[in-house]
Amino acid sequence: MSIELNIDDLRPPAIVKNPEERMKFLVEKSKNFVVEHSIPIRLYISSGRQLLQMANTYLDEMNMEQAFVLYMRYITLFFENLPSHPQYDEINEEDKRSIRSKLKPLFGIAEVIKIRIQNKYKEEYENYLTQKKIYDEKLTKAQKALIEQRQKDQQNLEDKKRQDYVTDLQSQIDKKKRELADKKNENFEDKNEVISDDEDSSSISTDQPIKTQSHHKPVIDRSTKPSMSLLDDVDLDTLRSMIVPFQVLTKKFVKIAQQNTDRNIETCGILCGQLKNDNFTITHILIPKQTGTSDSCTSINEEELLIEQERHNLITMGWIHTHPTQRSFLSSIDLHTHALYQKMLPEAIAIVVAPTTSEIQMYSLTEHGLEFILKCREKGFHPHTNEQSLYHSANHTIINDKLCVDIIDLR
Ligand SMILES: [Zn+2]
Ligand SMILES: [Zn+2]
Repeated sequence: MSIELNIDDLRPPAIVKNPEERMKFLVEKSKNFVVEHSIPIRLYISSGRQLLQMANTYLDEMNMEQAFVLYMRYITLFFENLPSHPQYDEINEEDKRSIRSKLKPLFGIAEVIKIRIQNKYKEEYENYLTQKKIYDEKLTKAQKALIEQRQKDQQNLEDKKRQDYVTDLQSQIDKKKRELADKKNENFEDKNEVISDDEDSSSISTDQPIKTQSHHKPVIDRSTKPSMSLLDDVDLDTLRSMIVPFQVLTKKFVKIAQQNTDRNIETCGILCGQLKNDNFTITHILIPKQTGTSDSCTSINEEELLIEQERHNLITMGWIHTHPTQRSFLSSIDLHTHALYQKMLPEAIAIVVAPTTSEIQMYSLTEHGLEFILKCREKGFHPHTNEQSLYHSANHTIINDKLCVDIIDLR
């Protein structure tokens, strides 16, 4: 007999934390960044613009939690953090006014989003409590049924064991008797010598094997009781994916860099793109005006770059550069350059193209590496202890060669 509700099939609903706790998590998340006074304020201002752009995208896509975190981060950055930056006074009045005018409506927007999230959390929590109650009731019922079933099984088992023992014994006796009888038949061909109660057991065929069925109990292991999931549905701690049209992007870049490469001069470009459905996609390479040597490359006139980005609504997603004669790796200067990109956008990547070896790699700093490099005050080429642990191949990238990439050459 099977029990009506199988305890092993019973799964608890995923835990939903209470609304206050979840809201607190989002607010903390939005404040979870440090403004480094060593990083030029202009970088914060240009990433602030992108922050707002990303927040707007999340809002359009109704991703309220991400939108809330980014709006709050923008407010915190410009309202609380930047005024204490040593270069704050260097910002001209017009820019300050523009920042203030952008900031003002955000308080209201963030508040409206917060209420929406709170309502959603409340609804989800109530739903969870209902599910949990149903689950608990089912669990209690199933446990009760299981105990009863086990008692029954135990009883059946004992009955069965007794029965098996008797059957087993009986068939062994029968076998012995038949062996004896066969022996006698062989020797004397005298049927009368067969042990008298043979007829009683003749219904059991001699072909039937002797079965030992004493361990036939259905096994229900209590240790497989469903375990409670600790995962919440909000997981904002993982990196978002960076979709890279790798082939076309690198091919176009190698081509546009060729002239410099031939003269043993590095070329650099800014990887830009869009945020969509919580993923980044690289859609453009901007080639800024630049000066280069055999082992370095510096962009100039960044103002122009920003205007261009704004015009195409592009978010900075990292950078790409060539190593005309060397292999693909990040030099100490590259590490410092990339740290700023990654500090602004955790998903930012560095692509290093080595045309001589055709080696092209996508890198990002490890968590430790980012922290380490931002603290390093050395300038120019310099050794870092344990350089291997500072960066690795970017593992949040997804290559999609069906997409295309535009190059905007500002040189
Ligand atoms: Zn380099
Ligand atoms: Zn350093």
